[in-house]
Amino acid sequence: MFEATLAGSLPKPDWLAEPEKLWAPWRLEGKELEEGKREATYEWLKIQEEAGIDILSGGEQFRVHFVHGFLETINGIDWEKKTKMGIRDNRYTVEVPTVTGKVSRPRSIHGEEVKFIRANTDKKIKFTLPGPMTICDTIANGFYETRPDMAIAFAELLNQEARELENLGVDTIQFDEPAFNAFMKDTVEWGVDALNAAQEGLKCKTAVHICYGYGIQENIDWKNTLGDQWRQYEEIFPSLNRSEIDQVSLECANSRVPPSLMGLLKDKEVMVGVIDVASLDVETPEQVAAIIKDAMQHVDAERLLPCTNCGLAPLPMDVSVGKVQALGAGAEFARQSLL
Ligand code: ZN
Repeated sequence: MFEATLAGSLPKPDWLAEPEKLWAPWRLEGKELEEGKREATYEWLKIQEEAGIDILSGGEQFRVHFVHGFLETINGIDWEKKTKMGIRDNRYTVEVPTVTGKVSRPRSIHGEEVKFIRANTDKKIKFTLPGPMTICDTIANGFYETRPDMAIAFAELLNQEARELENLGVDTIQFDEPAFNAFMKDTVEWGVDALNAAQEGLKCKTAVHICYGYGIQENIDWKNTLGDQWRQYEEIFPSLNRSEIDQVSLECANSRVPPSLMGLLKDKEVMVGVIDVASLDVETPEQVAAIIKDAMQHVDAERLLPCTNCGLAPLPMDVSVGKVQALGAGAEFARQSLL
C-alpha cells in the first residue's frame, strides 16, 4: 500500500552536466560519458532504495532532454531543419527539429539503460517515455497530413520500444504528457487515442504523467495566470478514466489543483504529488502524510501512489536527495499512521 514513486527526472551530478539547469549539455564525452551516466544512475538507485522508494526510476541520467532522448534514434527527422515553434501553447518558443519523412525506429533506444537499471536493483522499476502528443508538440510536422496522424505514427514507435523494455523487466512504463493540460480539447479529440495506441498490448503497469511543469520561471509565470483553482484536468480526466492506462498523476503539494478532481479517476490508480518541485524547502514526513490523508477523501488507499509533483531535475542535488527521502519517509509514516 502507498507504493512511493518518482514522477521522473532527477538532477545530474555536477561532473556529468551543469547543475540546476534543465537540459544542460554533457561535461564528459565518449567512454567516460557512458561510464558517468551509469555511475550517476547507480547512485540514484541506491539513494532511492535507502529512502524506501518502492518503484525506482533511473532519473533520466542517460538523456539530456526527455523528448529528444527518444527522438535522437528515430529516422525521418531532419535535425538541421529547425522550425521556430511556440510549444505548450506558446509557453516557450524554441527552435525544434522537423519531421520530413515517415518515422521509423531502426533499433532499441533505451534497452541498454534498462538492462543496467534492472541489473542493479531488486525493487520494481519504472521507465519514462515521452507521450505521443508531447512529442508532436516538441517537433515540427513537415510530412504527415495532420498532427494526429503524426501522433499515431510516433505512438507505434513508442509501443515497439515499450514492449522491448517490458521484456527487459520494467514494471511500469510511464508516458510523460505535459502537453495534455495545454491542449485539453486536442487531448480529448485525439491525444488519449494516441496514448492508448502507445500502450497497446503491454502487460506491465502503464502510467501517464501530466503536470504544470518543472518549477522554472516560465511555468511559475504561466501558473500565475491560471487563477485560484487550476481546473484544466477536469476537461481531460473523464477521457483518461476511460483510457487503457493504469495510473494517472496529479499535483497535490502546494498546488491549486482541486483535490476533488481525483473523483474523476475512479477506475485508475492515482499518482498523488506529495512533493513540491517548485520549492527548495524539503517536506517533512508528517507534511507528506497529511497530503496523503487529504487525498484519501477522494481516492481509495489501495489506488494511491505517493509521488513527486513533477521531475526534480532542475533542483540542487542536496534538496533533491532530501525530497526523495521525504517521499519515502512520508509514505512509510502514512502506512503507520493512516492504515
Ligand atoms: Zn512533470
